[in-house]
Amino acid sequence: TAKISDEADVVYASMQYIEDKENVSKIRRHFEEALNNYEFHAYYQPKVNVETGRIIGAEALCRWIRDGRIIPPMDFIPILERNTDIFRLDFYMLDLVCKNIRKWLDEGKNVVRISINFSRKHLVDPELLDKIVSIINRYDIPYEYIEIELTETTTEGDYLKLKKLVEGLTKIGIHTSIDDFGIGYSSLNLIRELPWNVMKIDRSLLPISSTDPKDFSTVLYKHITTMASDMGIECLTEGVETAEQVQILRDNYCLYAQGYYYDKPLPLDEFEKRLEIGQYPIN
Ligand code: C2E
Ligand code: MG
Ligand code: MG
Ligand code: MG
Repeated sequence: TAKISDEADVVYASMQYIEDKENVSKIRRHFEEALNNYEFHAYYQPKVNVETGRIIGAEALCRWIRDGRIIPPMDFIPILERNTDIFRLDFYMLDLVCKNIRKWLDEGKNVVRISINFSRKHLVDPELLDKIVSIINRYDIPYEYIEIELTETTTEGDYLKLKKLVEGLTKIGIHTSIDDFGIGYSSLNLIRELPWNVMKIDRSLLPISSTDPKDFSTVLYKHITTMASDMGIECLTEGVETAEQVQILRDNYCLYAQGYYYDKPLPLDEFEKRLEIGQYPIN
């Protein structure tokens, strides 16, 4: 296979790109073929306990690799979300992740819980829960190894569907997390009424530095993490990039981090090497 350019080289999507009609039709045209040619890959970004440095899980993030180049999710997911193509991608990703977990289990490796993103567009599908379960069962994966990441919803109809889904997943022991917490809609209601395991705080809410304790972003972050802790919901912050930010998590009630400070999303083989070590040095 072609050498993949470094994640940092990926030119991040602009709205312009996905608004361009030519790009839209190109993505649509190539999608089917890309699925058949195994062009979609799961990259894994470790989730880390900031006190111990241990890897406690990972998020599977989709990478479309075409002609040796990585197409970032923001360049195609919004397009796939305009019709039912996104359903096929998300189920494909779940299948891929289950296949990888099955491999780790068979090889006797130590396995951590992997989370998969499901677009909120799926909520219209009344059989969503059954479909998720049947893929997991196909590979005979213990439910505790799977986490489904969902974002906040906009409409009341969606809200009820989301509630049903999260309750259904929880009942059978599949973990759920509310993704990008704090930048969407109706977050507080959603936190109170649904049995989430994890709150993933969006990186835009993580302060850059802790020098000014009266700074609004510091105050907000402190209260969000305290709220999660008091409600008994695990708390993870996304986009942790510096040692100073790791310290901010420790100084608040946020035990888990995900971000470039530890690792970028890694291709399977690199992630396996990380998992073998299982641990980052603690500063
Ligand atoms: P997300 O679920 O919130 O994923 C976290 C994003 O933050 C990832 O972007 C990750 O690479 C990035 N990130 C992680 N650490 C850092 C950091 O320290 N600094 C910065 N600046 N960024 C960091 P990515 O992989 O480009 O994915 C973007 C979004 O695309 C995801 O946001 C998720 O909403 C969506 N996505 C990715 N894969 C899938 C998928 O298989 N299905 C669906 N439906 N959505 C997906
Ligand atoms: Mg996510
Ligand atoms: Mg997120
Ligand atoms: Mg985010």
